[in-house]
Amino acid sequence: MKKPVLVINTGSSSIKFAVYEPDGGGFKLRHKGVVEEIGREPFYTLRDGEGKELSSCRLEDGTRTHDECFGWLEGRLGEILPEDGPSSVGHRVVHGGTGFTGPALIDGGVVERLSELEPLAPLRQPYNVSGIRAMMKAYPGAPNVACFDTSFHRTQPELAQMFGLPMEYYESGVVRYGFHGLSYEYVLSRLGEISPETAAGRVVTAHLGAGASMCATLGGKSVATTMGFTALDGLPMGTRSGGIDPGVIFYLQREKGMTADEVEGFLYKKSGLLGISGLSSDMRDLEASAAPGARLAVDYFAYRIVRETGSLAAALGGLDALVFTAGIGENSALVREKVCAGLSWLGIELDGEANSRNDLVVSAGKSRVRVYAIPTDEELVIAIETTNMISA
Ligand code: ADP
Repeated sequence: MKKPVLVINTGSSSIKFAVYEPDGGGFKLRHKGVVEEIGREPFYTLRDGEGKELSSCRLEDGTRTHDECFGWLEGRLGEILPEDGPSSVGHRVVHGGTGFTGPALIDGGVVERLSELEPLAPLRQPYNVSGIRAMMKAYPGAPNVACFDTSFHRTQPELAQMFGLPMEYYESGVVRYGFHGLSYEYVLSRLGEISPETAAGRVVTAHLGAGASMCATLGGKSVATTMGFTALDGLPMGTRSGGIDPGVIFYLQREKGMTADEVEGFLYKKSGLLGISGLSSDMRDLEASAAPGARLAVDYFAYRIVRETGSLAAALGGLDALVFTAGIGENSALVREKVCAGLSWLGIELDGEANSRNDLVVSAGKSRVRVYAIPTDEELVIAIETTNMISA
């Protein structure tokens, strides 16, 4: 077995990993796993490259924190990695600020810089940094590479990245950073394989998962996106509100007596599809429900996607292709149908059957704008970027 690349994606309550083996010019996924429910009762699942479950278990009592889970996971990784460890470790890092415009080879200085960015993404970045520290300790011989969710958007013009605030705030980092960049990078490269001339044109991609955002690309480069300073802006999401009038925040604090932390928790955890429906943050539950709240949540989600598509198409000066990706984008024929119905004025026409089959191309032959449903793969992009960085 050629030495594999290990990909690590550390979240606030989970550690996801993937093991890729170099295969010809590409990669073969060997294993994928997760420790979830960290902080409560952590649970481990390991799958093979086809998604078949190989093992699962609760972690031993007393293994609760991220550091403890990493220590435990090292033992499990020892069972699937070569004796001398992986060739390299690629990390998903949520925030690269304005300084990291591409993947970075990690050394002590980079860890410090990533740590300094923690206030910009307090719910994710500290865990990303702890994952890096854990892997540097576990595999001292393997180079570590940071791959950022924000880097893809650094090609945007200044107008797209600024707010209507005094410019000293922009200079000090109050910037529309944008997120989901690894997903956009992967999807655009897949579109380039499927239809190079389309990928080179004016494309809007909708990453619709538990978190959701949209991105306008011209020639494969980001020119505008819906998420901003944080991953709270733009579209409504599973539990996040998406963009709201900032005046609502002052109202919640003054009139409803919420603290800043309470408002933050409310907008991140109790809003979006969950808040509107009063039922669930999961699109599958909402689609299966006849409750009026569930209908309203799906309709509002689609309505906001239509509105944002109009805005992003304006930033592009027109639209050649619309791409749906991530859990909802890849699988929900209903959401694609509602969105495309709202965009018929742009010359979008769906092929109903192709849409219900989740085909790669879901637009009708005569549609002026081509519509795609392309599965994303953020872990694979990290494996590729990491390997490119090491061999550069
Ligand atoms: P994450 O951001 O956690 O990676 P995913 O990309 O896995 O999220 O997307 C999760 C969302 O995708 C959930 O709302 C889920 O309901 C939705 N989803 C997954 N499969 C389907 C499906 N077959 N139909 C509709 N929605 C789906």
